[in-house]
Amino acid sequence: MTNVVRDAENLGSALRNWRRALHANPELSGQEEQTAAFVARELRAMGYEPRERIGGEWGLTADLHVASGPLVALRADMDALPIHEETGLEFASKNPGVMHACGHDAHTAMLLAAARMLRERKNELRRSVRFVFQPHEEKYPGGAPGMIRGGVLENVESIFGVHIISVIPKGIVAAREGPFMAAVNQLHIVVHGKGGHAAMPEDAIDPVVISAQIITALQTIVSRSIAPHDTAVVSVTCVEAGTADNVIPSRVVLRGTIRTFDENVRQRVLQRVREIAAGIAAACGARAEVTLGEGYPVLLNDAATLSRAKRAAESLGGGLIWQNLPLQGGGEDFAYYGKHVPAAFVFVGAKNEPRVPCFPHHHARFDIDEDAMPLGAALLAQYALEAGR
Ligand SMILES: [Zn+2]
Ligand SMILES: [Zn+2]
Repeated sequence: MTNVVRDAENLGSALRNWRRALHANPELSGQEEQTAAFVARELRAMGYEPRERIGGEWGLTADLHVASGPLVALRADMDALPIHEETGLEFASKNPGVMHACGHDAHTAMLLAAARMLRERKNELRRSVRFVFQPHEEKYPGGAPGMIRGGVLENVESIFGVHIISVIPKGIVAAREGPFMAAVNQLHIVVHGKGGHAAMPEDAIDPVVISAQIITALQTIVSRSIAPHDTAVVSVTCVEAGTADNVIPSRVVLRGTIRTFDENVRQRVLQRVREIAAGIAAACGARAEVTLGEGYPVLLNDAATLSRAKRAAESLGGGLIWQNLPLQGGGEDFAYYGKHVPAAFVFVGAKNEPRVPCFPHHHARFDIDEDAMPLGAALLAQYALEAGR
């Protein structure tokens, strides 16, 4: 086991305390005022001078200056979700209806630990380090664009981030080179027909039947309009129609999500959604109003940056296993950083059954094995230590 892992394990109780304090006091995207104040306080206690309220939101950064020249950036997100916690943990959320159900509390704690460890290893660093505490990840338009506008990538040579994952076993660090996490678009279609008596369909234009055809036809996009070596997901998840068994409604609302991994594929899918909805509706004498909400872009892992992250992971030892993952359907606003500077994002496993019951992210009983946090913190620190070597 290398010293960095040992350092991180020595910080185990600090990591737990930070994570639990944050876990008990979760804040929704865009409202991370107390979380940001907590992070700023801890950074100051370590001797940093944090830059706060970046881009008009609750984001903050701290720089560890060791050399002139480009910096290495390490990023954590800080926000929670509108979920009512049901874990029964002693440090469960004190804010009813708000919960850290994605592990961003652990990310913040791990980045604080990395900040503390690297300060003590300042003489081993070849690059200055910027610690980026980002708000507002869980909700579009995300917190990353504001951070970027606020200058956090200025003079940055590369940025690295980790996501703790409740369904990957502890000890595994995992990622994919190139496209890793999906581009997201929300799907919203209103089919306007003509309502009427259910016994006299000839006088109505039934949007329910038209919507059924649209839903089925949307499922041909991936199989018929996308090449077999490309991939996409089109899911219709909400169908809102009607009020009674003898009334044909005048409209139906369809909602869902689209996930893609390539910008050309994305544009093709969006175009086909518009054509199918409008075409089927028109053929049936109805009208479809299609709104395709923008979501996060595809997260691309830069090859050189990811291989530095992999090198960092492998040099940590400690029984750590590197795993290559397939494409992930989830979205992540870390993707924006990669549009400006070389970026890498990896998953850190935190599953450890039966000690910690395993639930997926965004679940009311989501939890992680806190013993995975030192590994995540060590990985962040080691990435910075590898820079410039
Ligand atoms: Zn999440
Ligand atoms: Zn997350």
